[in-house]
Amino acid sequence: MSPDSNESIARRGSDVLIGNYRPQPITLVRGQGCRVEDADGKHYLDLMGGIATAVLGHCHPALMRALDEQAHRIWHVSNLYNTRPQIELAERLVRHSFADRVFFCNSGAEANEAALKLARRWHRDRDDDRFEIIAFEGGFHGRTLFTVSVTGTPAYWKGFEPLVPGIHHAPYGDLAATEALLSKKTAAIIVEPVQGEGGVRPAPEGFLRGLRELADRNGCLLIFDEIQTGMGRTGRLFAHEHHGVAPDVMTLAKALGGGIPIGATCTTEAVATALTPGTHGSTFGGNPLAAACACAVLDVLIEDGVLDHGRRMGETLAAQLEAMASRLGPDRIVETRGAGLLRAIELTGPVGPVVDRCRREGVLVITAGEKILRLAPPLTIEQSELSEGLSVIEKAIEQEVQA
Ligand SMILES: *Cc1c(COP(=O)(O)O)cnc(C)c1O
Repeated sequence: MSPDSNESIARRGSDVLIGNYRPQPITLVRGQGCRVEDADGKHYLDLMGGIATAVLGHCHPALMRALDEQAHRIWHVSNLYNTRPQIELAERLVRHSFADRVFFCNSGAEANEAALKLARRWHRDRDDDRFEIIAFEGGFHGRTLFTVSVTGTPAYWKGFEPLVPGIHHAPYGDLAATEALLSKKTAAIIVEPVQGEGGVRPAPEGFLRGLRELADRNGCLLIFDEIQTGMGRTGRLFAHEHHGVAPDVMTLAKALGGGIPIGATCTTEAVATALTPGTHGSTFGGNPLAAACACAVLDVLIEDGVLDHGRRMGETLAAQLEAMASRLGPDRIVETRGAGLLRAIELTGPVGPVVDRCRREGVLVITAGEKILRLAPPLTIEQSELSEGLSVIEKAIEQEVQA
């Protein structure tokens, strides 16, 4: 067996990596657009985009150019100095969102960690000792101790107790239950406009607006976790734009760098005042290589029309999934749902065998729970690629889910 085959690389990995992941039994070595290739030379259509991260597909020429040009200039100097890409990225995010100011970090969990710390600190600056956080059942916010405590699924935090205190969870979509948890101790409400990991569940109509009203009345901050929904994933640059409501703080990561690790905490002029010099930081935050890529992502999304293309593909994907559901019937498909190019097929049985069969047939998909197949393809995907992928998925569901 070649030492570079799928099988031997998987075996080597299982000898040296901490076993907190259970990777699919292939090793991806190359990608172009929506296609990737494994170590044995097999090709796949990628309908999961590195978990909603490769928003422009693999090896997009504009990203390669941005990374290469920056790689020849300067890589890293820390935030003890200004760097141009970080400032240019913040300018773009401010131009295209409600936000006035941005803090950069390296991941989604860190972006949320900063948002939650910011909320506490903002109240503390007003001599208000509010520290509680209201979050939602089924929500996912990351793996640091604060963000995993806020995450609304016990499986993510079991065994890591004691958790950060003062965190309450309401059922997603339930304004009355949320209101009942609010008090003079509440620092912030944190919510995903579409719950991603928790099953691709879009916020019910009026929910985000209702949370805005509750937060205003209570005097706490409203945080939108757009780590999975941001950067055009739902058809608008940020998912909350569909709801005609803005948060006090928005967090981004995943697609922000198009595949390069970077996160951002975006907020208003007023709330940003809570973080003065020395109160928070990140050695790598706003790293020039990452920021240069993220600038290119935003430019391609907006100026090259990829955002609009993605929205159109999201609409056709929704229609195609509906048609699939009616062909396969309620014995196999409970429902299809989502927004833009973040979609789910909820099955009547386990999704694992469907994912395996799709992969063997050359299509990569992910899950969002035991019975939920999730699709998050690059926004650059073409109609023909969607159709090709969906026909493989349909056959896999037909064969692997018992009617
Ligand atoms: C992925 C995700 C996170 C965590 O991001 P990491 O980069 O894995 O730390 C947080 N919130 C949401 C909504 C996510 O989808």
